[in-house]
Amino acid sequence: MTTTRTIEEAARKVKVWRVVDVVVVGGGPGGVGAAIAAARTGARTVLIERYGHLGGMATGGLVNIIPNLGDINGRQHVFGLTQEIIDRLDKRGGTSYPRKSDWGTADKKVVDFYHDANLGWFYLRNDRNGQPRVLYSAVVDPEILKDEFNDMVLESGAELLLHSWGTRAITEGNTAKGVIFESKSGAQAVLGKVIIDSTGDGDIFVSAGAEFDNECDNKRRTAWLAFVWWVTNVNLKKYDDFKASQPEKFQELMQELAKMGGYPGFFKGILKNMPNTVWYHCMQPQPERTDAMDVEQLTRIETKARKRALVTYEFMKKNVPGFEDSFIMLSAPQLGTQGGRRIIGEYVLSENDLESDEVFEDTVAVLANNDYGEISLKHPSLCIPYRCLVPKTMDGLLVACRAFSSSDMINETFNIIPHCLAYGQAAGTAAALAVKSGVQPRKVDYKVLADNLRRQGVNIPPAAEMKKETVPVIRSRSKDFYYQKYKGPDR
Ligand SMILES: Cc1cc2nc3c(=O)[nH]c(=O)nc-3n(C[C@H](O)[C@H](O)[C@H](O)COP(=O)(O)OP(=O)(O)OC[C@H]3O[C@@H](n4cnc5c(N)ncnc54)[C@H](O)[C@@H]3O)c2cc1C
Repeated sequence: MTTTRTIEEAARKVKVWRVVDVVVVGGGPGGVGAAIAAARTGARTVLIERYGHLGGMATGGLVNIIPNLGDINGRQHVFGLTQEIIDRLDKRGGTSYPRKSDWGTADKKVVDFYHDANLGWFYLRNDRNGQPRVLYSAVVDPEILKDEFNDMVLESGAELLLHSWGTRAITEGNTAKGVIFESKSGAQAVLGKVIIDSTGDGDIFVSAGAEFDNECDNKRRTAWLAFVWWVTNVNLKKYDDFKASQPEKFQELMQELAKMGGYPGFFKGILKNMPNTVWYHCMQPQPERTDAMDVEQLTRIETKARKRALVTYEFMKKNVPGFEDSFIMLSAPQLGTQGGRRIIGEYVLSENDLESDEVFEDTVAVLANNDYGEISLKHPSLCIPYRCLVPKTMDGLLVACRAFSSSDMINETFNIIPHCLAYGQAAGTAAALAVKSGVQPRKVDYKVLADNLRRQGVNIPPAAEMKKETVPVIRSRSKDFYYQKYKGPDR
């Protein structure tokens, strides 16, 4: 029974475990990027992660597709750490992506391959003639990625602490000074000159008292939780033959499965080292907005989602040719949170920026803009200003994860794995530079930051373009206009 009672927690002395330059909390794509970049730029860095592995949703959430690295014209936009990771995984057979000559192609054979895998949302976008073209996107093996992330963080010189849950920011006035974390060793503190919140959910900036937003329209994927599981030993040829030869029977079965509460849609796994495997990215939309910060809801949705996975698996095995000998090889150890709190930063990236073509003077990343149909065709990339990572009301703090400063609409499209890695790389570099020059993160010299990121292989426009110059923005469009954005052929 819920109550309104409260109790006083006794004051306690907490051991200071380390005093460093940069403390990163959360080891997902954002946090890994931040820790590696900070350490490589010379800062004494600690990375704290609550689970026993790095990668966040990209590994523990079994969300192993890294899309939107390039645009419909075949032009690559995302480089830097993301490309480095793909190159490292490539050497270990842990990734798969269309070869460079196929980026932007309309070649039927290549297009059909991604359609057939039901991966159109990640790999295909229509051109003006309605012709699907292939994007540069990659799939990765989450187990190899966990190991590679460990290697990269440790090689960078950052210190890693797993199984440690950051519970509270330590502040003095409006400046973050450290973090309290809990683990099997009890409560400890780590102090730093810059604290980077990469928890995805903003656990640290909320406890620091920073201003944030958590409004999100229930239509957005970011308002939903999700649960992923993988099924292997599937005879995909037999499944395809059945689907093609008995389409009505197939539809009937899928409808029956949906009525029972199962989930009919899956992606065919296209990792070469894992044949005969399918991936269920099962969204759990609710009538009301789900709240990933409400532990009772998390529990209810996790138990329902697991039941749904088993209903689906048992039904497919019993009724669908090709699934007779299948089994669940893996379910995600962590429920899929897609969005939540967002910091209010010095700049809030919004729908207006999609059409502005502004090259901000503090641009730290250029991302492919593939999800807005005609708008994307006209404006295939979007610059991200450093100010989206800098809290408006707090010093000593940066935010490098899906909680970056953005409207809920922009967050839905630009909070995925390569984006968060880019925010991490920018924030980690900026934090180290702030420490070096003895200034607050908001005072970092943008030019020095951009030069440094360029040296790390990040795609930043040439210095000549880095000035505040805005093409007039069309601001009169309703939100519904943007809701009609391109939804991809198969999602
Ligand atoms: C079902 C689903 C499908 C998706 N599909 C794709 C896709 O195909 N491609 C894609 O690019 N993106 C996809 N996304 C989105 C993408 O996974 C996330 O937006 C991305 O992982 C965000 O990275 P992040 O570092 O901000 O957060 P996260 O990946 O959530 O990482 C946060 C990390 O911080 C840790 N942490 C949290 N709180 C604390 C704390 N208090 N103390 C210590 N550690 C903490 C977590 O354990 C985690 O490791 C999908 C998401 C879902 C749910």
